[in-house]
Amino acid sequence: MSIYLNNSKIFPMQRLFPGKPAGLAITINLLFYVFHGIINFMISIVKGTKDILDAEQWQRIEQKALEIFSKYGYREIRTPVFEYTELFSRGVGDTTDIVNKEMYTFEINKHSLTLRPEGTAGVVRSYIENGMSRLSPPVKLWYKGPMFRYERPQAGRQRQFHQVGAELFGVKEAAADAEVILLAVNYLKSLGLNDLEVELNSLGCPDCRENYKKAIKTVLKQELKNLCADCQSRYEKNPLRLLDCKVDGAIFAKAEIQKVIQSDFICGECAAHFSEVKSYLDGFAVKYRRNKQLVRGLDYYNRTVFEIKSDSLGSQNAVCGGGRYDGLVGNLGGADAPAVGWAMGMERLNSLLAPLEPIKSDAYVISNSAADAFRLAEELRIQGLSVEIDLSGKKFTKQLEKASKAANFALIIGEDEMKAGTVSVKNLCTGVQTAVKRKDARWQILLKK
Ligand code: ATP
Ligand code: MG
Repeated sequence: MSIYLNNSKIFPMQRLFPGKPAGLAITINLLFYVFHGIINFMISIVKGTKDILDAEQWQRIEQKALEIFSKYGYREIRTPVFEYTELFSRGVGDTTDIVNKEMYTFEINKHSLTLRPEGTAGVVRSYIENGMSRLSPPVKLWYKGPMFRYERPQAGRQRQFHQVGAELFGVKEAAADAEVILLAVNYLKSLGLNDLEVELNSLGCPDCRENYKKAIKTVLKQELKNLCADCQSRYEKNPLRLLDCKVDGAIFAKAEIQKVIQSDFICGECAAHFSEVKSYLDGFAVKYRRNKQLVRGLDYYNRTVFEIKSDSLGSQNAVCGGGRYDGLVGNLGGADAPAVGWAMGMERLNSLLAPLEPIKSDAYVISNSAADAFRLAEELRIQGLSVEIDLSGKKFTKQLEKASKAANFALIIGEDEMKAGTVSVKNLCTGVQTAVKRKDARWQILLKK
């Protein structure tokens, strides 16, 4: 006796062999599944990248940015996510980790392009290209968006991450440095983050830095062989950046090396500028700590540099970094213009915030007639309310269960209500239920929490 397989959902290949016995059909169907499995294997997310599933929290971070930046007179700028590679090698600096080992670079039509590893270089390019230097200073711009760095993925470090940042052009005075720091601090405060530590330093001007570089090189000469490979190449190319090394911390902690790091190397003018920045911050009760080892990872900074840190972030503890970069506009082909700004890591910022409660809709319409529920829901949505309905024909009790999780009010239209032309409005928090005449109900008022 032969067994025949009729269920074409379980045995899809059966359609090709109508009336064939089960043995042959099962083998063919198994082969189908193996082959199907091979060609339709699940594709996972790329290492070092993440899906954003808590979008409401991100929207809150972005809305607050818009609100606070507008108060300080910043306008949003959106630049492309890829630029000519040279913009970054010149702008970020070709002795930096970013340019040396972290860039996503590709060639198309003999042009070398790079996914932006940071936001400042693109903003400066746009400032120059769009003639913004002709605007009366200060020119204040802010941005947000994805950045790409080929780093080792770990907690607080991704290969695609997001930054929100601010740049102020055209003012060399200390008031500008103080205002951008205050902007960052107030933005964090507006999100409920009041106790983050600002670390502050001055790198001085290129002239006064020369002696410091020499002193660092001299004191580290004996240690050169013990430094990591990166530091060995930084020693000649960019000795200041040695201090930013995440590997050789113990060496830099040695007393004789700390003596040089802690020395006051900046010239009188730079020192006066730095004092002024600090006195502005004192005036606004911004808590900061001088960290003489803070040099920042990018090449373009001079004078004020700062980072905002939180211990609850673990080893990647900086949420924001920035400073003054008076040479960058000129270096990228524009007329010299002083500038100061910062960038904040949005993933790290997000991880400092308490998760948001799930947002409930204003109302959930429950009716025996799906068409009727649809009609009422649309009426209310037009009036500006958020309304859900059951789209899958569930029973009344199941709908009520769903409503209590998803909305603040249930609007019930049973048979009685249908006959009477009413809607029962149930407050799902208090349980209180009242009936209202449907045609003259004032929903905006009725559904106030
Ligand atoms: P770090 O020392 O942590 O590598 P950085 O000096 O390279 O930081 P910046 O270029 O100043 O960082 O970027 C500003 C902020 O962007 C950082 O303070 C951090 O919050 C965030 N950030 C930088 N790189 C990453 C990354 N790979 N993943 C997630 N956030 C990042
Ligand atoms: Mg880095």
